[in-house]
Amino acid sequence: MRVLKLKHPSNDPLILLESVDEPVISSNQILVRVAAVGLCYHDIAVMNGTLTRGVKDNVILGHEISGTIVEIGSDIKDLEIGQNVVTSLNSFCDSCEMCLANRDYRCQYAQGFGHGIDGGLSEFIKLAPQHVSVIPESHNLIEACLYACPIGVSNDALKLNDSYGKGDTVVIFGVGGGLGVHAAQIALSKGANVISLTSSPNKLEKLEQLPVGQVFLMDEFLNIPELIFALTEDQGAKVVFNPVGSQVFLTGLESLSNRGNMIVTGEILGKPVNFNLAEIIFRDAKILGSSGVGKIGIQEAVNLVDEKQVTPIVGKQYGFSEISEAYRAVKNKEIIGRAVIIPD
Ligand SMILES: [Zn+2]
Ligand SMILES: [Zn+2]
Repeated sequence: MRVLKLKHPSNDPLILLESVDEPVISSNQILVRVAAVGLCYHDIAVMNGTLTRGVKDNVILGHEISGTIVEIGSDIKDLEIGQNVVTSLNSFCDSCEMCLANRDYRCQYAQGFGHGIDGGLSEFIKLAPQHVSVIPESHNLIEACLYACPIGVSNDALKLNDSYGKGDTVVIFGVGGGLGVHAAQIALSKGANVISLTSSPNKLEKLEQLPVGQVFLMDEFLNIPELIFALTEDQGAKVVFNPVGSQVFLTGLESLSNRGNMIVTGEILGKPVNFNLAEIIFRDAKILGSSGVGKIGIQEAVNLVDEKQVTPIVGKQYGFSEISEAYRAVKNKEIIGRAVIIPD
């Protein structure tokens, strides 16, 4: 079978298409034929060498994986050949304290697919049965690779603040990206007043056609806190969803209402922030961090799509041989939602 291995991380990473033996499963494993793999900013950070800690040598990237079960070990009773599945973002033991508390993405033995262990940029992948969630047959299998990350991850992050509701303002930074474009849809489906921001002029027209609320272009002329207060009768935002990180941290903070929350789910530049604590104190504000999603969260994401509250946004599909092109397009912010890699 063909796999894509990251041989040398750099700004122009060396990723080779290699032929290896098909995995052989044990009696308590399944074999999944990979249908699609989403390319996340996490993958870009591993490819360009920003993220090195815990990364396996010559790793096969990809943690956003959908596919079809093609083989089942003899000890497994509750799965069937032919079922379509989406994988968890990491391996987990299913029996430690974290796993039993439904926080399997924080399992003490967790290893990230496409990070500490090989991921989905492979024709087949062998998995433990707890690492897959079955999806309804009617669902688009390519779009399904986005269910865990970014849809489940966005949903879990927004749930940290379940006090927002109908009419409350939710500001979404980075709405052109995978986390932002789905978070905006989730907040909108809860009846929130969604104000979305993008720094990519090339994405504006397409974003305006998606269900992501009002969309504004962040350029040097736009004073974001002023805009948010002007649009909310001087109340500010109940929630600021920040998948960008330090670059928009202060603007996000200054846009918050009293008792507002900023949820940070990403840090693209990897830079520290310097801010006046009074901005938090006099707002009674909270800053919350969130990453990952567990099996229950993945099932919730499946339901959100099933109930048509969220549409997975696949910006562009690439074949295995086009991985370098996909890397450049994601890095240069050309893709709305996710770039998806298909074994071609
Ligand atoms: Zn991801
Ligand atoms: Zn565990």
